[in-house]
Amino acid sequence: MKIFKVPRFFRLFFPNKTWDFSASEKVIFLTFDDGPDPQITPWLLDFLANNNIVATFFCVGDNVKKFPEIYARILAEGHAVGNHSMHHQKGINVSLKEYIKSVELASHYIDSILFRPPYGRMSIRQTYALRKKYVIIMWSWLSFDYEPSISVRKIIANAKRRIQAGDILVFHDNSKTTDRLKVILPELIEIVRAKGFGFSKIQKDL
Ligand SMILES: [Zn+2]
Repeated sequence: MKIFKVPRFFRLFFPNKTWDFSASEKVIFLTFDDGPDPQITPWLLDFLANNNIVATFFCVGDNVKKFPEIYARILAEGHAVGNHSMHHQKGINVSLKEYIKSVELASHYIDSILFRPPYGRMSIRQTYALRKKYVIIMWSWLSFDYEPSISVRKIIANAKRRIQAGDILVFHDNSKTTDRLKVILPELIEIVRAKGFGFSKIQKDL
């Protein structure tokens, strides 16, 4: 079974990471991982601008290095950015030293204290080391936009049922999601607005 909504008890096991925000503000947080990507990110930026939405982009350092003009556009259009490592390594597959080095290297390209671990996985030691310099942002609702075995209909139905104020939603601007995002996002923002929520970017201090 695929879990869209991260259960509250699971989030309590990892209190040193941010899973969602207070529900009192009636906003949700769209986040996009893995970009910038020349196929989908420019479309995404147009879409967000046309709909007056600000979001948070967890960028891969390698991609910022390859596509600096798209990264500059993300910032110029008022979105927030976060560090998603230099090479998108899975934390549990690399040493502490190598992991920290990847995040530090990415920080030369991405000016942010926000960090999201690739695949949402890293060791406890990696978490504690990064906590000294970064706010670790997870998510409370996973879109499965990258998973073709889950239909867009199912994703939208789940969004309708489960998204609540304060939720952090995760999508991906990478080559796997190019076609699906264009279908999912217009419907998703209708759902969120019908629930009476707005959109905000993640702004955090250490
Ligand atoms: Zn990622």
